[in-house]
Amino acid sequence: MSAMHKFIQALPKAELHLHLEGSMEPETLVEIDPALSLGEAQRMYRYADFAGFLASYVWAVRKLTEPKHYALIARRLLERLHQQNVLYAEITLSAGVILWRQQNLAEIYQALREEAAKSPVQVYWVFDSVRQFGVELAQTVAERAVEYAGDGVVAFGIGGDEEKGPAKWFHEVFAFTKRNGLRAVPHAGETVGPQSVWDALDLGADRIGHGIAAAQDEALMRHLRNANIPLEICISSNVCTGVVPSLRDHPVRRLYDAGVPIVLNSDDPPMFQTTLNGEYEIAARHFGFTENELRGLAANSFRYAFRYRQYPVPSNL
Ligand SMILES: [Zn+2]
Repeated sequence: MSAMHKFIQALPKAELHLHLEGSMEPETLVEIDPALSLGEAQRMYRYADFAGFLASYVWAVRKLTEPKHYALIARRLLERLHQQNVLYAEITLSAGVILWRQQNLAEIYQALREEAAKSPVQVYWVFDSVRQFGVELAQTVAERAVEYAGDGVVAFGIGGDEEKGPAKWFHEVFAFTKRNGLRAVPHAGETVGPQSVWDALDLGADRIGHGIAAAQDEALMRHLRNANIPLEICISSNVCTGVVPSLRDHPVRRLYDAGVPIVLNSDDPPMFQTTLNGEYEIAARHFGFTENELRGLAANSFRYAFRYRQYPVPSNL
């Protein structure tokens, strides 16, 4: 293990942008569906572009048909987070997809809460809906999120297609969740330009999922810095889905140097062949982040968490 790897492993970290359904390792898929071979599962996680990634994601999610499947993927995910010295996680559950598939959200969430209670990782949940599935589904997800606001759900979000599901559709939905004490974490500025991030800010975003398009807009970077609104940066995700042309083109350093608050995250780790520690390592190796800067990013992960109990940060950061 290299010195950098050891340093990153030893850093206490929080993970703030991580999709439960995107966290299934091929091995876990085989545990759920023993008819599947490991080779087949691994092949399904190889794709060439954003559309291919979505197809793989949908294929994997279809395997989840019972609450115990959700509990199993949460157990495996929390084991891996604990191994990486992640103390705290806000995990996104695609509640919109669960409701759209007419699954029993109450039973699934109950199974997840029970699983999370057994883990040493402190876990909270984000319920999200799919932009292009429209405002009605989003409102239903929002109502369910509010129902669990005292029981582990801390935020409401939207993901998916920023063009086909523009932020302006969702003003009332976010106003409703915010009024009821939930924080707002829309994905924005991932596949389209900076205007999408401005639009997400209009929704009252407390953090922005990705938001890398902000690097194209000086005024937006200044605003994020002054308003202290962080971007949840997921480098490998952006490279694998092709929203940046190559690793070298990723704006993480530019955003950081402009003073934009950022947090490193893994998004859908096995689908991007990464881990949270792997993302810190990429920041160090490819973008020149020093140990001190990485320590600062780990501190950010706690600072921008919604419910970390030992606020502001663990004493060794
Ligand atoms: Zn995401």
